[in-house]
Amino acid sequence: MLQGRSLVGWSRAAGGEGTLHGYNAGTGERLEPAYGGATAEIMDRAANLAASALPAYRALPRRRRAEFLRAMATELEALGDALIERVVTESALPEARLRGELARTTGQLRFFAAIVEEGSWVDARIDSGDAGRKPLPKPDVRSMLRPLGPVAVFCASNFPLAFSVAGGDTASALAAGNPVVVNAHFSHPGTAEMCGGAIVAAALKTGMPEGVFSLLFTVGREIGQALVAHPSIQAAAFTGSRKGGLALAAIAQARPEPVPFYAEMSSVNPVFILSHALGERSDALAAGLHASITAGVGQFCTNPGVIAAPAGAAGDRVVAALAGKLAATPEAPMLNAGIFENYAGKVAARSADPRLRTLACGKGSAPSLFEATVEAFLAEPDLGEEVFGPSSVLVRYGKFEEALAIAHTMEGNLTATIQMAAGDEGEAAGLVAALETRVGRIVFNGYPTGVEVCQAMVHGGPYPATSDGRTTSVGGRAIERFARPVCYQDTPEGLLPEELREGTTGVRRMVDGKYV
Ligand code: NAP
Repeated sequence: MLQGRSLVGWSRAAGGEGTLHGYNAGTGERLEPAYGGATAEIMDRAANLAASALPAYRALPRRRRAEFLRAMATELEALGDALIERVVTESALPEARLRGELARTTGQLRFFAAIVEEGSWVDARIDSGDAGRKPLPKPDVRSMLRPLGPVAVFCASNFPLAFSVAGGDTASALAAGNPVVVNAHFSHPGTAEMCGGAIVAAALKTGMPEGVFSLLFTVGREIGQALVAHPSIQAAAFTGSRKGGLALAAIAQARPEPVPFYAEMSSVNPVFILSHALGERSDALAAGLHASITAGVGQFCTNPGVIAAPAGAAGDRVVAALAGKLAATPEAPMLNAGIFENYAGKVAARSADPRLRTLACGKGSAPSLFEATVEAFLAEPDLGEEVFGPSSVLVRYGKFEEALAIAHTMEGNLTATIQMAAGDEGEAAGLVAALETRVGRIVFNGYPTGVEVCQAMVHGGPYPATSDGRTTSVGGRAIERFARPVCYQDTPEGLLPEELREGTTGVRRMVDGKYV
């Protein structure tokens, strides 16, 4: 069934720039088939085909685009156990998690289908003209969000379904009316090919123009970089390392015609435990933190990498319970050898770091917990950097002002969590004021792992969490990354997009300053 070829429009391309294999992430066994790396010519063809599909695709009625997204979800579901089997093999993630991730992926596609069909996301605004206005006539001015053009999507290693070929970036870019060219992740090529095949099947069944979707298997980094630099590509989205995100963002910026680049990179998701919460539920806090740190072998961008807890006896009990649970958790396979080596190397460095005290540290990919003093943590920012995997740094604060200083010192993050109870309100308000400028989402009395796909979700945050903290890669607003406002002045009715025409109903619009 798998052919080991890139998908360029409706065709398969054999490639020739080296060879890529999937691996069983649990055993290291090499998997078939071999994937021929896309050549520069194949990438060029995919990007140009995407540009040629743009006029027809962006002009489709909303209902047609929604049909395509829903058909993608149906085709993914039709892959059934074969998809689950391959993705379990390639990622070593538990089957239950991956079935959940598939449901999230198809749910995301249907979520964006509903957004497109409903139509209000385009933020249509109409300011009626007034030929009799003095001293000058007022023009008729209308605007709405329109698609940017072909989008390049770089798949994530840690979400082989929900942040990969048919994941949130692809879904939101297609929903906004843009063709997509995907750069597969080397960790799960078989999964990528199956998902890509499902998208092509959905596109054919719903009569989409060829080039609306292409999938490239790339060996080395040149082709991915050339894709971002390609003149047909008008935006790109990425989930991965800070180094990779910055390298590709620099390419997007250095083009003769720079384009938006949305990278989700590194985040340590601090958890602040306030004193009354500690007194009220220490056992639950230890259990909850343990579950959040170890979920998916810590390979979540929302993994809690920094914990600030009050000093004192109650705090000691939580820390001892958490350290005990972490120390008793065995190692488990990580997503790929590179991620394992990165984790093991960074944990070894933390173990040997004289600024840190080791509270728990097993072997290999087992969880670890280290403690830094407030003084060291505030003075030496590297102690608060992401270690991708189940490792956290604990900081015990004496006065609340120290917790506040930690919040002010942190780099940009996707999330911050406040554990509070009655009596903590004043301190929580102080933290919220500090964290609003530093993070995308503030969680109360929960844990950062687990991101709800809904209209209000923000999965973003200031650098280095993302390259552009004004947006989100999860939730309804994600679609806005791939559109820009276009204004039509004194435009003949027949030349306006549907949402801006007289008599259009069913779409929320701002008409002469009022939403109708
Ligand atoms: P990555 O190394 O950044 O790679 C992500 C994708 O981007 C891969 O397809 C990779 O291609 C490509 N890429 C990276 N740098 C590139 C460059 N300079 N030019 C062209 N393409 C480039 O991330 P990863 O493999 O997913 O995981 C490695 C590390 O990323 C983890 O250890 C972790 O620190 C971090 N990570 C963070 C998150 C998050 O959400 N914050 C999620 C996943 C991973 P290649 O296949 O050629 O490498």
